[in-house]
This record gives sequence, structure tokens and C-alpha cells, in this order.
Amino acid sequence: MTDILPFLKSLISVAGLSGHESPVADLIAQRWRPLVDEVRLSRVGSLHGLKKGAGQSAPPAIMVAAHMDAIGMRVSRIVDGFLHITNVGGIDVRVLPGAEVTVHASGTDEELPAVVGMPPARFLPESAGNGFLAINHLLVDTGLLPREVGRKVRVGDLVSFANEPIELAGDVLSGHTMDNRASVAALTACLQDLQNKPHVWDVWAVATVQEEVSYLGAYSSTFAIRPQIVIVIDATFAKGPGANDWQTFPMGKGVGLGLGPNMHPFLHTRLRELAERLEIPWFLDVMPAQSGTDAFAAQTTAEGIPTALVEFPIRYMHTPVESAAVKDIQRVGRLLAEFIATLEADFVDMIVWE
Ligand SMILES: [Zn+2]
Repeated sequence: MTDILPFLKSLISVAGLSGHESPVADLIAQRWRPLVDEVRLSRVGSLHGLKKGAGQSAPPAIMVAAHMDAIGMRVSRIVDGFLHITNVGGIDVRVLPGAEVTVHASGTDEELPAVVGMPPARFLPESAGNGFLAINHLLVDTGLLPREVGRKVRVGDLVSFANEPIELAGDVLSGHTMDNRASVAALTACLQDLQNKPHVWDVWAVATVQEEVSYLGAYSSTFAIRPQIVIVIDATFAKGPGANDWQTFPMGKGVGLGLGPNMHPFLHTRLRELAERLEIPWFLDVMPAQSGTDAFAAQTTAEGIPTALVEFPIRYMHTPVESAAVKDIQRVGRLLAEFIATLEADFVDMIVWE
């Protein structure tokens, strides 16, 4: 089995905010090139890797998608050399103070190290002094004098998390953007496994853009590729202090399979049976409505595409310290490779919605 840790650490060490994914797309393209027959970018910047199926001239196609975009911030105002920020995607503002960040300064095309700070409690009105502050009260400090900031930084410049990945004891990796670079790592492990596993279907590995803001990548790639089936990989909520019982899942105890109207029941059942057969532990993630992932976009593209969702649990979602069990991510990669290898040419005829 491929060790995904080194590549995953490099994936969560680069920027690539929603709408600006090219730094991470470059890194993924480099890693995928030897594993697939062709790699190219979609018109909106999603990365498509095609690994051709063996045997037939026009085989059916499966698309496996993981979003590569990251949440982050953008400079909204510059006051006395301090940067005010707004969010890109659904950021958890409560943990921003103290975060290490990089300001992507467009005036001089520099990456400036910076921290997110807030005024000391004693200088704030009593009502705000002890509570958490809204994002408009927080400041990004580059350490530069106002004149230098004015020369280098522009309103609209991106600010990304800059903390290094940290390996916790117990097989847990923590860092920013584990949602969803860990899924990109799982997809890469799947491609790696497929090097020694014959498969009949064409496999489109897709790293999508803008899941955190609009599902643009999932919609446009599903439409362009028009695969017979789509499997989406994404993070879900892990159990932890304060988590409820039914929407959170134990970390390190296996992969999640989404079940609900957004998922094709036959694909779900097949994945579940395969996990049982391979003795890969799994849990059920019951989704009463759309899944809030690329699976929603994939399923509702064109005439409707049979879609499934495979997940791994993550603690501290949408913070710079998102944490996940490495073995769960590894299991997702293995399950997908085995699933792809079991796809016969006539599998597509069996996918009916009953
Ligand atoms: Zn995600």
C-alpha cells in the first residue's frame, strides 16, 4: 500500500484558495502525470487525469472527484498598514486570532509572512472584550510600515493559512486544508493502486475547483466528461467533545458512505458490500437532503449522473488545525481502487434506480 503521508503533507503546505487553485493544481499534476495517460486542466482550472481502461475501444467511464480548493481570506481594507479581511468560503472565524498566514501581495508579487491579531481586550468596549470578535474586527499584521504595506499589498489580495502540518500521536495528521486535500491524497493512492490492477473502465481522476463556494468544478467537469458514474470523496465531521451523536463519526474507525436522495442507492449498496468483503470498516452517513459536497453538483448535471459519496471523518472542520486519521484516508483510496477494478463492461446496465 502506498504511504500517502509525504504527499499529503506537501498538499497541505501550499495555498490554492477557491478560485485561485493553480498552486495546488500544479503540485497534483506533477504527481499524477506518471500515474495516468493524460493530464489537463478544464476551462475553469479543475485538473483532469485520464487513466484508460483496458480492452475496449469506447469503454464506460467513472469519474472520481475530490475538491482541491481551500478556504481562506482576502484583504478588504488597509488601515494604517494593518489589513482588514473578509472570508473566502465558510471559515470558522472563532479560531482566526493567532493564526499564521501568508499574504499574497500583488503589488510586488511577494508572499509576506503575517499573523492574524486582534486588539487587546482592555482596549475594546466591555461588550466585545471577552467574547469572540467578528471578522471585521480582526487584523492581519505583516510587520511592515504603512508605506511599505501600501506599496506591496492591494485590497483584494489573498491571505492563506501558513501553519505547517503537524503529526499528532496516534496516526493523526493536523493542518489547514485537510478538507479536502486529504481526499486528493486518497484519490492519488487509488491511482497508485490501479497501476497493478487491471480495470476495464476509463478512470477520470478529477481535482475540482471552488467546491467551498459554488461547486463550479464539479458541475463543469461532470458536464464535460459526462461519465457513467461519479464518486466524490470529501470530509465529514468526526466525533469529539461537543459533537452530537448522529451527525458525527469516530475518527480512525473507517470510511463513511453517504446515503440519501443525493446518492444512487445501487452504487451505495455496491460500495457497502465491497467494504464488507474487503473488511474495510465503514459507517453510514445518513443525509436527509443534498450532501453539501461536490456529489450534489455531479448528480444534478446533464440528464442526472448516478453518484456516490465516500468520506473520512475530520475534527475542527474549517479551521487551520483540521485533523484526520491517516489510516481512514488510506482506506478510502483502497476501497476506490478495488471498486474500480470490479467494474465490468456491463455494470452500467445494472445501475437502475429502484
Ligand atoms: Zn470539503
